[in-house]
Amino acid sequence: MAVGPELIIADEPVSALDVSIQAQILNLLKDLQEEYGLTFLFIAHDLGVVEYISDRVAVMYLGRVVELADAKMLYRDAKHPYTKALMSAIPSLDPTRKSQRVLLPGDVPSPARVPPGCPFHTRCAAAMPHCREREPRLKPLESGHLVSCWLYEDSANG
Ligand code: SF4
Repeated sequence: MAVGPELIIADEPVSALDVSIQAQILNLLKDLQEEYGLTFLFIAHDLGVVEYISDRVAVMYLGRVVELADAKMLYRDAKHPYTKALMSAIPSLDPTRKSQRVLLPGDVPSPARVPPGCPFHTRCAAAMPHCREREPRLKPLESGHLVSCWLYEDSANG
């Protein structure tokens, strides 16, 4: 999709709509984007909708971007443990595909009391001792794919 001079922010624009109306609205947004060269900042929780409408996706946890990548790359090869948990919750129509749903323990902490270190450490099965003390940077892994996690920081593992 084209990146144009106009930026439109859409916060959950289709979440309350019936599925067929959702599809019509999403297709209309895509048509408008192509015709007028618009850029949409599309905020949504429905991962199917996000995949359909997006060129690039930023995954946020407690107000921080924890992973940023092209949509195809993110859905094929998510890196951050939180993104992986989100992806595992997407229902599959393939009955032969075994569900490997990642269930996160506990609740999302209050945004007013963000845990120190990595904000996700209280729910992360891969958390290491330094995750509780130091917040990882959003770091490029490969072309256009950034992740904020000590699992991908050489300095923390080496
Ligand atoms: S930095 Fe540590 S706690 Fe945070 S997501 Fe990565 S492994 Fe989990």
